[in-house]
Amino acid sequence: MSRRRQIYEGKAKILYEGPEPGTLIQYFKDDATAFNAQKKGTISGKGVLNNRISEHIFTLLGTIGIPTHFIRRLNMREQLIRQVEIIPIEVVVRNVAAGTLSKRLGIEEGTQLPRTIIEYYYKDDALGDPLIADEHIACFGWASQEEMNDIADMAVRVNDFMCGMFAAIGIRLVDFKLEFGRIWENDYARVILADEISPDGCRLWDMTTNEKLDKDRFRRDLGGEAEAYQEVARRLGLLPEGEANMVLDLDQHRAKRGK
Ligand code: UDP
Repeated sequence: MSRRRQIYEGKAKILYEGPEPGTLIQYFKDDATAFNAQKKGTISGKGVLNNRISEHIFTLLGTIGIPTHFIRRLNMREQLIRQVEIIPIEVVVRNVAAGTLSKRLGIEEGTQLPRTIIEYYYKDDALGDPLIADEHIACFGWASQEEMNDIADMAVRVNDFMCGMFAAIGIRLVDFKLEFGRIWENDYARVILADEISPDGCRLWDMTTNEKLDKDRFRRDLGGEAEAYQEVARRLGLLPEGEANMVLDLDQHRAKRGK
């Protein structure tokens, strides 16, 4: 028996029909993938933590005037969001060289970039999300020039805000990925921030030890993924001291009972 209609299942999340037109329910799974889903696994409790971390960041971004799809968190793994038409572009913001930038251009991981870089990737799993230029976006009509201006402006503001937010808790924001969507109001489309912001799509390094507190622990087989995500949530003040394990235990207990 199905409780509600599934709209889409992605690698880390499932989207269900929402309670009202124009809304969806975003469910966070524990599944983790890397290298265009060639590597698969699960990180126990990840969905619960990402739901909470993303809620926190989207809410704060809302207070500085960044429009987002987030409406409210419903429970440990689900949030109510506005339905958007996803723009098929992954926006990557980089402050420090790492990952594919280091590989592609031979720049040592950890090198502070003299200025922030914004990159665009075409969202297409079959093609392995290729790096693209503005020219491709304009040529193939994936977004208008006006939309791209709004996207770049928002990406810079999100980066400035998040750099400060993470610096305050001893974390260096190395890079991260954003996704945007369109909502239609009468005949006008507006671009808002969509998807999620969590350690799945950010590189977060401890400022003193350089320890990785993000999905690179999974990508690079470093272990301790769940603990790293928990540490990010704890430093953000989302898990009161001592309660981190309790929250996850409760979630696993519920999962076993099939609720
Ligand atoms: N990223 C992501 N999804 C993707 C590709 C990248 O969330 O499909 C994030 C990634 O977690 C990192 C940033 O974007 O924080 C830059 O990733 P990079 O291009 O270095 O690729 P990766 O090494 O993640 O394959």
